[in-house]
Amino acid sequence: MKEFDIAVIGAGPAGCMAAIRAAELGKNVVIIERNEGIGKKILLSGKGRCNITNSGPLDAFVEKFGKEGDFFRSAFFSFFNQDLIGFFESRDLTMKRERQNRIFPATDSALSVVKVLKDVLSKNKVTILHKSRLSSIKKKSNHFELQINDTDKISAKKVILATGGKSYKETGSTGDGFNIAHKLGHTIVRLKPCLVPLKTKEAWVKELQGLGLKNVRITFRTGKKKIASPIGEIMFTHFGISGPLVLDLSGDIVSALKKDEKANLFIDLKPALQTEELENRLLNEFMDKGSTQINNLFKVLLPIRLIPVFIRLLKMDPERKASQITQKDRAAIIRLLKAFPLTIMGSLPIEEAMVTGGGISLKEINPRTMESKIILGLYFAGEIIDGAASSGGFNMQRAFSTGYLAGEKASNA
Ligand SMILES: Cc1cc2nc3c(=O)[nH]c(=O)nc-3n(C[C@H](O)[C@H](O)[C@H](O)COP(=O)(O)OP(=O)(O)OC[C@H]3O[C@@H](n4cnc5c(N)ncnc54)[C@H](O)[C@@H]3O)c2cc1C
Repeated sequence: MKEFDIAVIGAGPAGCMAAIRAAELGKNVVIIERNEGIGKKILLSGKGRCNITNSGPLDAFVEKFGKEGDFFRSAFFSFFNQDLIGFFESRDLTMKRERQNRIFPATDSALSVVKVLKDVLSKNKVTILHKSRLSSIKKKSNHFELQINDTDKISAKKVILATGGKSYKETGSTGDGFNIAHKLGHTIVRLKPCLVPLKTKEAWVKELQGLGLKNVRITFRTGKKKIASPIGEIMFTHFGISGPLVLDLSGDIVSALKKDEKANLFIDLKPALQTEELENRLLNEFMDKGSTQINNLFKVLLPIRLIPVFIRLLKMDPERKASQITQKDRAAIIRLLKAFPLTIMGSLPIEEAMVTGGGISLKEINPRTMESKIILGLYFAGEIIDGAASSGGFNMQRAFSTGYLAGEKASNA
């Protein structure tokens, strides 16, 4: 049986960084990866451009992870965004900043990120066992025995489990790590889809498939709970809605939905205008163009594809003239502009979510080391750990930061 100081399971950003750090500290490291190559999810990330981190402050990162955020503070503190940028830039991969402080490689290619990781792993002489799927871990008195592909076994003094979540299975993250950790005695906080499109009851969304709405705000309401977004972009799909605003709120919406099935989402199509301003604008518009039909009149207010649906919801005759619009009609138009309603029925399944929420319970991991409090010598890194952030580079940084900390502590301890 081959013996290693440290076995890292999974060659995503968390596993690669953990292996690199441990190897830099002189350890004999092996990565066990079920795919042929490394970083398959990195290649998909940021629409193939990899939004690798965010240049915001540490507190902003902590906030993005919500109630789980504080747990990641030590990991971010040990290896943060500027360290990550430095890691790549010192290896000739320059980074650039885009809107909302999102950091991307200047090459606009996730492949260049994977190439650097591959190169650094190789320079540090990390052994990578490709096409090797870990099926179980056994803790022996002073080492671990790892079963691979049900045929091979290796032994390691320490193990870092970085198998990711349970989303986008084709990338290799099928949730194996959760089962393996559970068998070792760990609690798995209920998994849920995060950064996921939502399904609506209204079938007419199909008519609007592909239509993006910029500069809108969404507000989700269920029972007493209200979740409002900032101003941004959404998109209609054949089953419901997606786009940045929807994806970012989706984790909270999915959690809220479990408790109360009936949920409404309202789109404010004119968030920059107050009711009174809208009223004045409509009044002027309608007075100027008295003989124009409302379906034409709405072209100054709404994207053309949205107009038929909008008029149907108003229950108005599309050929009605502006001069025939009453004050009551105007009030109804304004209500619909400020709160265009949709009924949320749920989300796409976890497999189609960009990030998995839930995972190894934070109560069972030491935040300063990423070591299991249940099995000493076992460490966790990346998305396998409970918690998820909205889009913007935060999830990738969490993977690199926890990977770095786990690699370092597994080497020192
Ligand atoms: C489409 C998409 C786009 C995204 N874009 C961004 C973005 O731009 N910015 C951002 O911050 N985040 C983004 N994310 C999220 C981000 O990619 C993940 O949070 C991050 O990759 C998690 O890293 P990880 O190393 O924990 O897990 P993963 O990247 O999922 O890696 C886990 C690895 O473990 C391997 N593995 C699993 N089980 C086993 C086993 N039993 N044996 C051996 N190997 C195993 C898998 O094959 C995989 O290689 C995106 C996600 C998706 C799906």
